[in-house]
Amino acid sequence: MYIGIDLGGTNIAAGLVSDKGEIILKDSVPTNSERPTGEIVKDMAELALKLIKEAGYTPSDIDGVGIGCPGTIDFEKGEVVYSNNIRMEHYPLAVEFRKHLDLPVRVDNDANCAAMGEYIVNGDNAGSFLFITLGTGVGGGLVLNGKVYRGFNGAAAEPGHITLVSGGEPCTCGKCGCWESYASVTALIRDTKRAMDKAPESLMHSIAAEEGKVSGKTAFAAAKRGDKAAKAVVDQYIRYIADGIVSCENFIQPEITAIGGGISREGDYILDPVREYVGKTGFNKFMPKGRIVTAKLFNDAGIVGAAAIANEK
Ligand SMILES: [Zn+2]
Repeated sequence: MYIGIDLGGTNIAAGLVSDKGEIILKDSVPTNSERPTGEIVKDMAELALKLIKEAGYTPSDIDGVGIGCPGTIDFEKGEVVYSNNIRMEHYPLAVEFRKHLDLPVRVDNDANCAAMGEYIVNGDNAGSFLFITLGTGVGGGLVLNGKVYRGFNGAAAEPGHITLVSGGEPCTCGKCGCWESYASVTALIRDTKRAMDKAPESLMHSIAAEEGKVSGKTAFAAAKRGDKAAKAVVDQYIRYIADGIVSCENFIQPEITAIGGGISREGDYILDPVREYVGKTGFNKFMPKGRIVTAKLFNDAGIVGAAAIANEK
């Protein structure tokens, strides 16, 4: 059994997880990320210990702890090199955690953890598994032969920052035209607002007014009710997603590509056209095609994945 901890900017979520990725028990506490880091780490360890005790175990029953953290992570050292969300810089997270709960600890990037979590429940033992999450940004992770591929420096598998349009929309990374600047929910909201400005008669206006804001769902809801301006936004957005996936597939040819993030809840409404476009334009036209599926874990991917990272051979 393993402990998986998903250290987020808002909450610390932790779970007691079996080696098959089943969550036995889970709980969360607020991160309160502006307080001293030592206090956050102490809370993480206390939450882990609480779960172990509540499930009727002792720390000696636990094989390891995995911690998923946003930012740049030195996996070998268990160090957070830099995290903007949690305000850590060259912080020896594994060492500090073990001062409170002395178990083997591994620390990895949260997207790598999510990828590993999805692989455990959704990966069918595939030799190559690509996970892409469409949220505020576009994140991802690559699992090859059951192990996260991290690159020589731990910074591999950032599909959100492959270039889709040279010199295009600005990206949070400082570059322009990244896939993230077109396929993230942030980009979808930007494009929805632009379309609304040009189409005062669009249903998107009344839908946004009902929701109280323009969200990633606005254009989808209007398009499903036959609104032409919304349909154009959705079609273009799906095309952006598909174009990025084609690039990833042409390079990696993963056996399975799993799409996560809130927008993936649109399911086949997004995936069917994506699959069709990837099928037509991918370089694998005459070869067996990888499967494109939706993620299964959503909010629990971080916990399950962090536990799986602790169990990575
Ligand atoms: Zn970028």
